[in-house]
Amino acid sequence: MSHRILLLGAPGAGKGTQSKRLAAEYGIDHVTTGDALRANKEMETEYGTPKSFMDAGELVPDPVVNEIVQAALDDADGFVLDGYPRNLDQAEYLSSITDLDAVIFLDVDEDVLVDRLTGRRMDPETGDIYHVEFNWPDDEAVQERLVQREDDEEDTVRDRLEVYRENTEPVIEHFRDRGDLVEIDGEAAPDEVFDRIADVVEG
Ligand code: AMP
Repeated sequence: MSHRILLLGAPGAGKGTQSKRLAAEYGIDHVTTGDALRANKEMETEYGTPKSFMDAGELVPDPVVNEIVQAALDDADGFVLDGYPRNLDQAEYLSSITDLDAVIFLDVDEDVLVDRLTGRRMDPETGDIYHVEFNWPDDEAVQERLVQREDDEEDTVRDRLEVYRENTEPVIEHFRDRGDLVEIDGEAAPDEVFDRIADVVEG
């Protein structure tokens, strides 16, 4: 059975954490524009480098991200897409290159998002995500190498949430209007969120 899954939600809703697990569980590719852009931050494009947009919490221009997604989906048998589409033009582009089997929205309140993002830390070796309050690693070696993403500092977090409200909420409305959207309470415990997503994917 093919699994072509789209995970929608605000920054901090848990898309990355859940996508990683889904990719492992179903043997599908985790396609994430955020990670792809972070790995190519200094790449020169006709619009400038991705870094200049990312550090400001703004969207990287559509042609750059569309190309990343198209190349990734070309190579994938099944996938979970995380962090794309972030505006209606990207959504239209996506529908021109693939069909989807499940569209899932992780719903999380804004004040919870701010706490999650500003306390978030990342292990640069494994890409695993932790939190200073809610999910601190036991291993001291891991603790010492954790880093905060530059765009997780509070000012940039506010800008990213504003960009989300303006550009990405219409994408969620678009899928809701089509009747394709399954909404899941993203404030539930991570294992519970995962089980609910799995029910949708297998249903
Ligand atoms: P993320 O890791 O998904 O929070 O993405 C980090 C940053 O990468 C965003 O704030 C944007 O600057 C950029 N980015 C990621 N995905 C996209 C996208 N689909 N369209 C435009 N910019 C993106």
